[in-house]
Amino acid sequence: MVQVDVALAKCTGCAHCRDVCPVNVFELKPRDQFPDVVDDPGVAAKFQFRTERSVAINGPECIVCEACLFECEGECITITDDEGHVHNSTYK
Ligand code: SF4
Ligand code: SF4
Repeated sequence: MVQVDVALAKCTGCAHCRDVCPVNVFELKPRDQFPDVVDDPGVAAKFQFRTERSVAINGPECIVCEACLFECEGECITITDDEGHVHNSTYK
């Protein structure tokens, strides 16, 4: 089963992942649902944090198309495929 993880401290809430995912893995949730998450300073130096964070609610549906990995500005998505291979964000 494919596992999709979002490092919430780096998630800016840009929603690119949700917009590109063909199988609706991601859902954006209000930041105040994660009061213990502290914004990553390295990401904050480059991007604006919005009002939501992304949660991978349907990870097992992921077809490993890697679209979200190209678009994630926080570089905070990690996907582990059926064979245990790890795919990381590659935002340029
Ligand atoms: S790699 Fe998976 S989670 Fe990312 S866009 Fe493709 S199907 Fe969605
Ligand atoms: S693309 Fe990355 S930074 Fe943007 S909302 Fe999705 S997980 Fe967060």
